[in-house]
Amino acid sequence: MPRMRAVQVKNANGPFELVEREIPTPAAGQVLIKVQACGICHSDAFTKMGAFPGITFPRVPGHEVVGVIDKVGERVPNWKPGQRVGVGWHGGHCGHCPSCRHGDFITCANGQIPGITYDGGYADYMIAPFEALAAIPDDLQAAEAAPLLCAGITTYNALRNGGIRAGDTVAVLGIGGLGHLGVQFAAKMGCRTVAIARGADKGPLARKLGAHHYFDSTTQDVATELNKLGGARVILSTVTNSQAVSAVLGGLAVDGKMIVVGASPDPIEVSPFLLIGGRRAIQGWPSGTSTDSEETLAFSALANIRPMIETMPLERAAEAYERMMSGAARFRMVITTGQ
Ligand SMILES: [Zn+2]
Ligand SMILES: [Zn+2]
Repeated sequence: MPRMRAVQVKNANGPFELVEREIPTPAAGQVLIKVQACGICHSDAFTKMGAFPGITFPRVPGHEVVGVIDKVGERVPNWKPGQRVGVGWHGGHCGHCPSCRHGDFITCANGQIPGITYDGGYADYMIAPFEALAAIPDDLQAAEAAPLLCAGITTYNALRNGGIRAGDTVAVLGIGGLGHLGVQFAAKMGCRTVAIARGADKGPLARKLGAHHYFDSTTQDVATELNKLGGARVILSTVTNSQAVSAVLGGLAVDGKMIVVGASPDPIEVSPFLLIGGRRAIQGWPSGTSTDSEETLAFSALANIRPMIETMPLERAAEAYERMMSGAARFRMVITTGQ
């Protein structure tokens, strides 16, 4: 049997292991993807730490996968070998839970996640159900498309479903892996885009990404500064510090909305008066489905939006993961297979 390389986590909190495995065969409804690139996401920690309900080991992480369809199982409509495809956080849905019956697949009660429910993209090959596939535009290289399948879709989809119109003021809190894409999306959607981060040194980068304003939260009262601009219609929070989120809520305009896509278990504090008086809201947003991925990729190609990445070969996945998690990599690490 032909063999492949995979990087697996053997047990919860165990090390990454580079192993050889047989190349799997796609069952009905599945395709075999020859992986070219896989982004490293902070959510890969769920796999590494075994911190996701129902996860079993060994498990190959990775849910920002880009490659080429190698084989197609039975009962797979439309997709053919040779097509470039991506798989993100939405790795399949059940079709029969209440959310699925409403056509809302991303909130499926039995949703599948590559790298958690089944083996993901830290490997030369992976299997995915066809409903998880997104087509990749020719203009996008594999390594730069990969982060768009989680960091990209999450910010793009949150913004485009956030009730914004061209000309509205949109603030992006944090300029890391998610935020540096959020700033580009908001600017290219035609919004007055405000980037907010800690320290003056990130200002030039924020402007290069398309921000019209930059606020340094260590020296400026961000809520006051946002109100000078009339308040933000949407604040997209990509940071994990809940105190930082609480601190900018006062910068929301009437009918403004805080959309939370960065996470920590700490509570966000908000005054009910702020919410009631100006009909303001706080909402979370969970990435999107494979069609949302496809539209994220298409918009990125159209508007020339790219993630800032650093690549490492598959066999150095453990090092790439450490670099991402320690914050040494400013934006996104992507592992490549050389295929
Ligand atoms: Zn992710
Ligand atoms: Zn379902």
